Amino acid sequence: KVRVRFAPSPTGPLHIGGVRTALFNYLFAKQLKGDFILRIEDTDQTRYVEGAEKYIIEALEWCGLPYDEGPGQDGGFGPYRQSERKHIYKEYAEELIAKGHAYYAFDTPEDLNGHRKNHEAQGKTFIYNWHNRLKLTNSLSLTPEETKARLDAGQDYVIRFLTPQDQKLHLTDIIRGNIEIDTNILDDKVLFKSDGMPTYHLANIVDDHLMKITHVIRGEEWLPSLALHQMLYTSFNWETPQFAHLPLIMKPVGKGKLSKRDGDKMGFPVFPLSWNDSIGYREAGYFPESVVNFLALLGWNPGTEQELFNLQELIDQFSLERVHKSGARFDPDKTKWYNHQYLQQKPNSELASLFQPQLIERGISEELVNLEYLEKVVSLIKERADFISDFWELSDYFFEAPKTYDEKAVRKQWKEDTPLLMADLIPVLENISDFSSENVENIVKQWISDKELSFGKVMPPLRLIIIGAMKGPHMFDILAMIGKANSIGRIQKAIS
Ligand code: GLU
Repeated sequence: KVRVRFAPSPTGPLHIGGVRTALFNYLFAKQLKGDFILRIEDTDQTRYVEGAEKYIIEALEWCGLPYDEGPGQDGGFGPYRQSERKHIYKEYAEELIAKGHAYYAFDTPEDLNGHRKNHEAQGKTFIYNWHNRLKLTNSLSLTPEETKARLDAGQDYVIRFLTPQDQKLHLTDIIRGNIEIDTNILDDKVLFKSDGMPTYHLANIVDDHLMKITHVIRGEEWLPSLALHQMLYTSFNWETPQFAHLPLIMKPVGKGKLSKRDGDKMGFPVFPLSWNDSIGYREAGYFPESVVNFLALLGWNPGTEQELFNLQELIDQFSLERVHKSGARFDPDKTKWYNHQYLQQKPNSELASLFQPQLIERGISEELVNLEYLEKVVSLIKERADFISDFWELSDYFFEAPKTYDEKAVRKQWKEDTPLLMADLIPVLENISDFSSENVENIVKQWISDKELSFGKVMPPLRLIIIGAMKGPHMFDILAMIGKANSIGRIQKAIS
């Protein structure tokens, strides 16, 4: 059975890149009727951020990507927080030592710093590896008695992986194909520290093994760790899962990967939910469907022209083989476009319910905030909206008379004879009993032709009077919506 995991470290809010990793894991698992697991990788206590785990869980929930197993949802492989699995890892580190694949190292941080400085002074970089490990202080350079004495005395140590020398590793990645690595370029990574905590590398491999993970789908930034991970599986004599490293998400312009700073500079969210003073997609008014849809296409290509996918379509069509290697450029305008599309698809009744609280908050009179009226308003303006929060600005004139008139438009549309003309129009409107859009249109048009006026002389100033600016949908739809009394009232106010 396919089992995948999303394994974030709770070091801060989840970036949308993280959400994309979760999404691709989710899609892959669901297509193959497998399990999607959430594992919290919190072994690095110094980087732990309060509230981050809760944020991650809430973000997945909001996106509609529930996990089958994870914190609060045991599937027999828990606990799912590495800090609660602390007791598990030590024996595995010791197993590697016993098998000759790892060793104790006693070099203090000061020692290592000294080596680094010395190397730098000679224009070299210090790497803890085959080249110099025997000159450093570890169980390979010390006698077994010396090592034992240090351990017995409670001296600080780390356990390092003993990278084999002069080997060519053959790695496979579903997205990147075959990769060959010379082990001599690798360093002996720390697997375990004397504070009783494993490092990411050890905990990650042990947990993937114990949780029976079949496919590791994660960001490209972990590709450099693949060699070590593969060597760990081999050293333990465990079956290696398959790997897929997803392309980076790149800045909208220029080089480099998308960062929070790009969002701040250009005014778009990079987090699914708000975090401190950074606004999230949810709070910016995006629908989760839009976010899921645009993220799915960051790195994955369906091979067709289709751009709109609901979650089920993504589950059906997703494939890791169609994920590309090169970075995926993030396009904030496209994210808006998606929201626009999903907004158009929503039933007017739903849009009206979403709009209603904003109007109540603005103190709009009760008779106008009824859902039936709102549905009509929404149907007339939604075409121009990307977000529910655009509704008010697009439709305020349905709820109140304009407080100001656009000056430029006044200069252009308001002629000397406009007040007289409008005064003449009032009784015409007054006499209409069926104030429907069509009927008002017929009668006003008739009046325009009887009076030998032109459309251009009447309609633009009328729009200005009713709306306050030269915007909005069909004029007669608006008149019918706000009703006879309001229409006449606004004309009177403008010409008085
Ligand atoms: N804890 C790692 C992270 O924060 C997980 C990497 C992996 O999936 O192996 O991204």
